Amino acid sequence: MTDSSATVRPDRRAELANGLARVRSRIDDACARAGRDPAEVTMIAVTKTYPASDVVALAGLGVADVGENRDQEAAGKVAEVAAAGVRPRWHFIGQLQRNKARSVVRYADVVHSVDSVRLARALATATADREVPLDVLVQVSVDGDGARGGALPGSADPDAGLEPVAGAVADASGLRLVGLMAVAPLGWEPERAFARLAEVTGVFRTVHPGATALSAGMSGDFEIAIQYGATHVRVGSALLGMRPTLR
Ligand SMILES: *Cc1c(COP(=O)(O)O)cnc(C)c1O
Repeated sequence: MTDSSATVRPDRRAELANGLARVRSRIDDACARAGRDPAEVTMIAVTKTYPASDVVALAGLGVADVGENRDQEAAGKVAEVAAAGVRPRWHFIGQLQRNKARSVVRYADVVHSVDSVRLARALATATADREVPLDVLVQVSVDGDGARGGALPGSADPDAGLEPVAGAVADASGLRLVGLMAVAPLGWEPERAFARLAEVTGVFRTVHPGATALSAGMSGDFEIAIQYGATHVRVGSALLGMRPTLR
């Protein structure tokens, strides 16, 4: 790792500033239409496949929240960014294997993708050495098809049911249950997906009134997610440009 790996080129900084201005104005417009205060919506810059220097540049532009979806890539990037003296709030948003829990809790401030009791327990065990609790969002399967990840609303499945997972997070001393996360299922109109998610969220909050975060919406659909109550939008390509490979 060299110092130059996180050096920001002026042309890239300008590109990111433009992307950020466009995304912020889309968020402002969506909030205006929904009658919401933009201060209620946190934009997480999803920097997967992009270098540490982009995180440093974004931080310089005022972005405080950064998301990554793969432990191997994230762990190295966090270290490079830290070496540049920058400390954003790191959100882990990707599918997480239990054997990566120990690594992720070393750098993540928030994990959005907890969808099983076993994963919640692995994270709880891994937080033993942390000074501050790990914020956790339970990922919901909007279409109820657990095959693509997400806990199952209304299911009593002891490992994958939404309530069993939320309960395991709420009961773990090293974890703090802060809300729900979802990705619109393939083939679903975002409108239908986020309306369904809002229903699930309503029920969930009757049981967990303090867990008010709702992480929903990506580059292509975050306006609709905001309309349905998203408090966190996860924005990659609209901010940083198209990624070379689909992840
Ligand atoms: C990549 C990713 C995003 C961002 O996607 P874009 O379409 O590039 O905005 C959001 N959420 C998750 C879980 C992701 O993996």
